[in-house]
Amino acid sequence: STRVLTGITTSGTPHLGNYVGAIRPAIVASQSNTTDCFFFMADYHALIKCDDPARIERSRLEIAATWLAAGLDPERVTFYRQSDVPEVTELNWLLTCVTAKGQMNRAHAYKASTDINEAAGEDPDHGVTMGLFCYPILMAADILLFNPHKVPVGRDQIQHIEMARDVAARFNHMFGAGKELFVLPEAHIEEHVATLPGLDGRKMSKSYDNTIPLFEGGSKALKEAIARIVTNSLLPGEPKDPECHLVTIYEAFATPEQAAKFKADLVAGLGWGDAKKQLLELIESQIGPMREKYQALMAHPEQIEELLQIGAQKARAIAAPLLKEVREAVGLRRMN
Ligand code: ATP
Repeated sequence: STRVLTGITTSGTPHLGNYVGAIRPAIVASQSNTTDCFFFMADYHALIKCDDPARIERSRLEIAATWLAAGLDPERVTFYRQSDVPEVTELNWLLTCVTAKGQMNRAHAYKASTDINEAAGEDPDHGVTMGLFCYPILMAADILLFNPHKVPVGRDQIQHIEMARDVAARFNHMFGAGKELFVLPEAHIEEHVATLPGLDGRKMSKSYDNTIPLFEGGSKALKEAIARIVTNSLLPGEPKDPECHLVTIYEAFATPEQAAKFKADLVAGLGWGDAKKQLLELIESQIGPMREKYQALMAHPEQIEELLQIGAQKARAIAAPLLKEVREAVGLRRMN
């Protein structure tokens, strides 16, 4: 079977973008008998972007409850928190020692920060931590520890997967003695999966606080957030351009027929108020039933914790033997 691995950073409340871009396709993949799935909460990664402990703690619970409410079956999937698997940080160090600094200088996440600083006339490294600079190595450790073949990602992550491949290839070459210690992972680009825009027009992102929450706050919060999607000032009866954020979000939940009708109706003059009402109804019809499960799970964190502890054990049972082999390969072998 094919190993698939995917993670979500615990940096805030899960949103429609996380659902459409990561959770929904991952759950579908996990239902196939030919995949072996590893879904994790990237809470070490969250520390790179977020220094608010209460937010990290809350997010870990919300994201776990979201995965489970959306249909993740913990019996089928290895479902765990990154920070419960100490092998991740140990591998992170072993990989750090074979990663060229020059390669990290070119990593998108780091470059984006230095570019912003430079544009503002600041020191390029202003506010940049070693966590941000070395982020692709931690990501490589997340991946390589489980030797997955496929890592489903958005386009923005292709470079980081390529870096993980490079690190794996270098490690195999230096220490594998002809053996493939690490599988070279492949980015699996979800062509048909849309990137949802946030309420400010940038990518919807937990750390931008521009999101439409998936379950939190109930249907009331969903309705309020949809009301805030920016539209133009055209009145009902006036033809609307269907190339807009509202339609992108609608399309992510609609069948092609529903989407075509929605766009045609907008061109024919459907008012923005009615369009938003239709969007709310469409989303609510799909996630409403899951929200009840989400709320029940949120009321029992101890049950979630128990599942995560079992998940961590499953993950460590796979990670530990690989890590032992890797330690020995670099010369960290016991003396007797
Ligand atoms: P952060 O702000 O911490 O980066 P995020 O909400 O942007 O958080 P991640 O946790 O980095 O999301 O990503 C989790 C998954 O959700 C990834 O697979 C990513 O591709 C997907 N995802 C995130 N935002 C969107 C979006 N706006 N549209 C579609 N998919 C998204």
